[in-house]
Formats: sequence, structure tokens, C-alpha cells
Amino acid sequence: MKVLVTGGAGYIGSVVAEMLLQAGHEVVVFDNLSHGHRQAVPKNGELVVGDLADRGALDRLLGSGAIDAVMHFAALIEAGESMQVPEQFFRNNTANALTLLEAMLAAGVKRFVFSSTAALFGNPDRTPIEEDDPVHPTNAYGESKLLVERMLRWFHQIHGLRYASLRYFNAAGAARPDQGEAHQPETHLVPRILEVALGRAEHVNIFGTDYPTPDGTCVRDYIHVSDLAHAHLLALHALENASENSNPLLYNLGNGQGFSVREVVEVARKVTGHPIRVIESPRRAGDPAVLIASSEKIRRELSWQPMFPDLKSIVESAWQWHRAHPDGYGRD
Ligand code: UDP
Repeated sequence: MKVLVTGGAGYIGSVVAEMLLQAGHEVVVFDNLSHGHRQAVPKNGELVVGDLADRGALDRLLGSGAIDAVMHFAALIEAGESMQVPEQFFRNNTANALTLLEAMLAAGVKRFVFSSTAALFGNPDRTPIEEDDPVHPTNAYGESKLLVERMLRWFHQIHGLRYASLRYFNAAGAARPDQGEAHQPETHLVPRILEVALGRAEHVNIFGTDYPTPDGTCVRDYIHVSDLAHAHLLALHALENASENSNPLLYNLGNGQGFSVREVVEVARKVTGHPIRVIESPRRAGDPAVLIASSEKIRRELSWQPMFPDLKSIVESAWQWHRAHPDGYGRD
């Protein structure tokens, strides 16, 4: 298939683009490079630099008739930031997704894989979280993605759009020592901790030590980026064979195991041999206390099987990348 990968110059999108190429698909990456990196785009993938708000650019790409499916990664991703500038999240994540979907419908492209998030669930009613559990986001990031999931349901029902919505829990790790996470500025826990281990930051803040969790810090379910990427290929394959009436594919993606912020720091101390200074700080707005996935559904239905289910190997792979590339991809 020929797949349009929005955000394919970003952390997860670039790994998926590479995996698609290895599986024999053709890839067109569409990215405005606001957060992505030209160097992260796989060598034999085509890069079109453009913005999702530019309907004309999307029409030109999709209207060629060559695109069989769209994978949509491009988005703002920081939950903390979404509680300061929610309007940017609704513009980039919700409105731009609608523009993309409109262009797809106009061009008759009917397969869509959506990067959704555990943030849909807010403070979940039970753990581990299953796909049909109630959604009530506690931050604007989660809401901006939930609105897209809601639109998708109607587009499926009314226009026969075939889609998969993959709710990522906490993506971490590196697919290869030369392809990893490089956000600017970096806010995610694992890379922030590793910046300290590299001597590029003096300490890492622990945001909140008074949560109702065993050690008072937030608990998250970390999933290796390659395992996450593999799920996209399985979802694409399932959509290829799906009929217009088949149910949408909704899957939670994690390892079913939670680690507190303090536990992640401890694992990183072991992996790096660095003491990693922490400073206990106030809570970050919008953070749910515990997010742990049940991924039984995707295991059962698509035979998804994580290769790196343990946190140590996830952190080790991230450490290899950060040590080899302390400046990430450098200047684009
Ligand atoms: N966190 C932290 N210090 C940091 C970055 C993150 O204590 O410098 C916490 C954050 O509050 C959350 C967890 O680590 O509880 C994971 O945060 P991250 O931003 O990596 O991912 P999120 O869960 O927001 O998607």
C-alpha cells in the first residue's frame, strides 16, 4: 500500500514510516517540521513539507489517487502545555484532523490509523483500563483527541471510513541507536531523566508526591516505541481486509504494568549508573494519578505481542540513543 504518514518526521511517526518501508509499503511523510526532524524521515521515504491546515496541499497529495491509507501522527502532545494553551491543541489536533479527514473523504481515501491517547480516560474508573471504559479527560490534550475519536465514529457510520484508533499509553525507548526521541524543549519523563544522566541537566523534577499511589508519585504504563509501531502495521493490515461495515478498531496500547515516577528514576539509575538528582515539586496541572492499559484486545484480535515489555530494556534503548546523540538530531 502507499501510506501517507502525517508527522512522519516525529518520534513515533518516523519509526512507523521506517517499519512500513521495511514491510514493502510506499511512504509519503507529510510534516511541517515544527517539531519533527528532516533527518528522522527514513531515507527511502518521500518527505513533503507542509501543514495540515493547508487543505490545498492535502488535496494535491490525496487527490493523486495514489494514497491507499493515512496514518495520522502529527499533533501537539504535551498534556502540561495543553493546560496553558488549550486553543492550540484544539486547532492543531482537532481542527487539523478534521481538515485531513475532509480531504480524505473528498479523495475517496477510506483507511485511517489515528494516534490516540490514554489521556482520553482521565482518572479511570478501574485499572487496567479497557477500551470501552468511560472517557473523561482531565486535560485539554486528551479532550482534543477524544473529539477526533468522536468524529471518526460518525464518519465511519455515515461515510464508511475504516479506521483504527490506537490509544498510546507512555511511549518511550528508541527503535535504533540512531533514531530516537528528540523533542525541543523536552518534557517527557524518560528523556528528562536521561538528560540528567548525561550531565545536561542538573536535576529532574518529580511533579507531585501526594497522589493516591503507593509512593505518592504518578503511575504510568511505558511502552517501547517499536512495539507501538508494530501495532500500527497490524492495524493497517486489518483495515486493508476490513469491509465498510466492519467495526472500528479501538485498541489500548501499553504493557499492563504501572511504574511510578520514582520507580522510573530508580530504573534509570541502574541503567546509567548515574545518581540522577531529583527535586520534589508540585503537581503538574491535568495529570491523572494512574494510567495502566489493558492491551488484551489487540493481543487477542491482532496477535500483537510486545518485544520489549520490561521497563529496563525500554530505558536501555533510550539511553543508547541519547548517549550517542546528546543533541538529538541537531539543527535541521
Ligand atoms: N513527570 C515528572 N517530571 C518530569 C516529566 C514528567 O515527574 O520532568 C511525570 C508527569 O507528571 C507524569 C509522568 O512523569 O506523571 C509521565 O509524564 P510524561 O510527560 O512523560 O507523559 P504523560 O503521562 O504526560 O503523557
